[in-house]
Amino acid sequence: MKGWEMTEKCLCEPNEVIIFSCAGSSNVGQIANQAAIKLAQDGVGRYFCLAGIGGHVSGMIESTKAGKMLIAIDGCSVGSAKKTLEHAGFNISEHVQVTDLGIEKNHNLNILSPDINKVAQHLESQISQRRGLR
Ligand code: SF4
Repeated sequence: MKGWEMTEKCLCEPNEVIIFSCAGSSNVGQIANQAAIKLAQDGVGRYFCLAGIGGHVSGMIESTKAGKMLIAIDGCSVGSAKKTLEHAGFNISEHVQVTDLGIEKNHNLNILSPDINKVAQHLESQISQRRGLR
């Protein structure tokens, strides 16, 4: 198994923090995707392709193994991103479900900036704590 356990601190740099999102076909799946984009654009970590992990693409598996902190963002309790990573043998350092942050799932795909920011801020705080920055 590769990746840091939930209880460990990581002295890793942002480029060693790897973010995956489920990018599911619902508002919460797309909020997960946009939150991952925001975290990458804000320099918190790098956003990788979950589909590459699901497809066992060797280069993507190897790149992910080089990461020190793996982040999974799921839209809902189905936990597709978490399950995909675990199925490939990775340990996840931080996991969040958008619905656990009080955002209700629907299929209208109208996503709101405050919801994206809420998920991104939650994870940024969790990642900073894990890196010993807070
Ligand atoms: S976690 Fe939920 S929103 Fe994301 S892909 Fe799975 S079912 Fe869809």
